[in-house]
Amino acid sequence: MSAQEKNQHATEMTEKQNFSNPLLQKWNGPYGGVPAFNKMDLQQLKPAMEEAMKLHLEQIEAIANNKKPATFENTILAMESAGKPLDRVFTYYGIWSSNLSSPEFREIQQVLAPEISDYSSKISQNEKLFKRIKAVYDKSKKEPLEADQQRVVQLIYENFAMEGANLDAKAKERYAAINKELSKLYTDFSNNILADEENYVEYLNEDQLGGLPDSFVKAAAKAAQDRDHDGEYAITNSRSSMDPFLTYSTERELREKVWKTYYSRADNGDKYDNNENIVKILKLRDERVELMGYDNFAEWRLQNRMAKNPENAMNLMNAVWPAALARVEEEVADMQALADAEDANITIKPWDYRYYAEKVRKDKYDLDSDEVKQYLQLDNLTQALFFTAGELFNFDFTPVEEGSVPVFHPDVKVWEVTDKTSKKLIGLWYLDPYGRKGKRSGAWATTYRSYTNYEGEETVLASNNSNFVKPASGEVSLVSWDDAETFFHEFGHALHFLSADVKYPTLQSGVRDYTEFQSQLLERWLSTDKVIEKFLLNAKTGEPMPAELVAKIKKASTFNQGFATTEFLASALMDMKYHTTDPDKIGDPRTFEKETLKDLNMPEEIVMRHRSPHFGHVFSGEGYATGYYGYLWADVLTADAAEAFANAPGGFYDKEVAHKLVKFLFAPRNAMDPAEAYKKFRGRDANIDALMRDRGFPVPAKEENK
Ligand SMILES: [Zn+2]
Repeated sequence: MSAQEKNQHATEMTEKQNFSNPLLQKWNGPYGGVPAFNKMDLQQLKPAMEEAMKLHLEQIEAIANNKKPATFENTILAMESAGKPLDRVFTYYGIWSSNLSSPEFREIQQVLAPEISDYSSKISQNEKLFKRIKAVYDKSKKEPLEADQQRVVQLIYENFAMEGANLDAKAKERYAAINKELSKLYTDFSNNILADEENYVEYLNEDQLGGLPDSFVKAAAKAAQDRDHDGEYAITNSRSSMDPFLTYSTERELREKVWKTYYSRADNGDKYDNNENIVKILKLRDERVELMGYDNFAEWRLQNRMAKNPENAMNLMNAVWPAALARVEEEVADMQALADAEDANITIKPWDYRYYAEKVRKDKYDLDSDEVKQYLQLDNLTQALFFTAGELFNFDFTPVEEGSVPVFHPDVKVWEVTDKTSKKLIGLWYLDPYGRKGKRSGAWATTYRSYTNYEGEETVLASNNSNFVKPASGEVSLVSWDDAETFFHEFGHALHFLSADVKYPTLQSGVRDYTEFQSQLLERWLSTDKVIEKFLLNAKTGEPMPAELVAKIKKASTFNQGFATTEFLASALMDMKYHTTDPDKIGDPRTFEKETLKDLNMPEEIVMRHRSPHFGHVFSGEGYATGYYGYLWADVLTADAAEAFANAPGGFYDKEVAHKLVKFLFAPRNAMDPAEAYKKFRGRDANIDALMRDRGFPVPAKEENK
């Protein structure tokens, strides 16, 4: 196909319609077109979504029913190009769901959810479509396409194949039946946890509040009031209640009770018990992947992750595990000594861990978080982000003229992003900084448009969203160290979008154990010398943060890593054991969990972060099943890549390392195999040494040092 034909074909596929619905209309205006956030009308959402899904399905049908033999152009390229109106509506949908939610929106969302799910199965289960994808894939194995085309074909083919598209009719039927059964079990699993979280509440009287901070006591009084227990204090069965209670309460017997209740969720032998559900889920998952010829669920799941197979993930966990256990021993000894010095006359138990750890922390590393905050002004931190992006990515951020780009709320600010040297326009960066009613909690990054160049270069529209407290007018906004780190983290995701250099939309897709790495890495620039000197300035005196305070913050970050790493790894290891063991040999999950942990030498003073009956990551859906290790995986890459900077002549601002960082770890997104990309950046595979140093663990000995 000639370039001209390609263009014409693309135009036909996407823009033959003039839409009257504003949510479907092409984006006009400056910067390659921007979303019409000023024209958002909730009444238009449902009709827009329905029309856009219908249009996309028509395009897919046309591709599937093409009489000509399947080619990259008439099948893969056509799929990549289809569905643009839907992409546009989803942008608005995302704003309503995350930034501007309302009861009216949630009603529409409930109606649309099953329609969206039907729409996507109509694509993933389209047999004619898959036949054509497979034909292109098979041919490309013999006659390779250009590298980026080959990668797109491979990713699309694998996605369909992993969802059973290769099965014969009978197996497909069974596959669908298994999925249906599983989706019910997943819902039951999470509802049972929820039931136990809601049904168990510990009510305290005024004499039982020893050690608890005022803010916690107030929240507990309110929680009791909401449950018609005026004058009492409710400790609910949730992490946000349990964790501070165990950290501060001086009432040891109550701590034990709260601990036991929390870690018995969905494990009480009643109708909300999840143990049987675990067995059913594991059997069905195993049967499903067996239909496709895999030995176990983990092998199927990990094939397109960076880890690639369960062995690699297990090797990493096993390498860190002994050091974590050794550290727990030290932590327990520290705590026991402190308890003995107080004549507490106890042996440290799991319900004592948080309480005594907090005492040790105060003793060894006390940090005044209010003092730290004085150096973290939101406006300065925003400038620090731009400075970092300028040094590493050669980007320039300039505020756009007020009113020139539509925004969905007056708090949202927009910057133009250009290349410092060539002045070329990269795109726009939107920041929605403050919390408000209808905005989801936490912080996140998203794109309204991603970079591709298969139909001409697109500019990127990236956004960051936080929940900082809006200061009174004239006041500066001060944030905590954690929040400042998160601000850098989310900006790392935005830079990953802004620096993308990929041809096709599919090459933008994320890899679960890899996509948190780029963002985690960016957090490291917050505590670099240049950022501290220029931007971490005291709100009253203008002085930069003193070196002793920086050192204190860094030292405190290794505190209690024995506990944190062990409770996490115990869950991650169990996740992998469940999915690599023949489900018929698992028997009762209670026994399996107990014996597996015993074999691992799990310390008595710690419990899994998520015990099996309430391990929702793994059993109330498939997102993190055999994927819980992914947090550690990304941490290894982060620590190792940060050391590449730390050890370079220019440190964290070394131009050569920065160049490689952008070229191999940011710009390619999923156009390059992540493991291969990392090797190109580092000259070797990542190893765990840097992570061990970060956590204050001993680095394993080497037979030889290169
Ligand atoms: Zn993230």
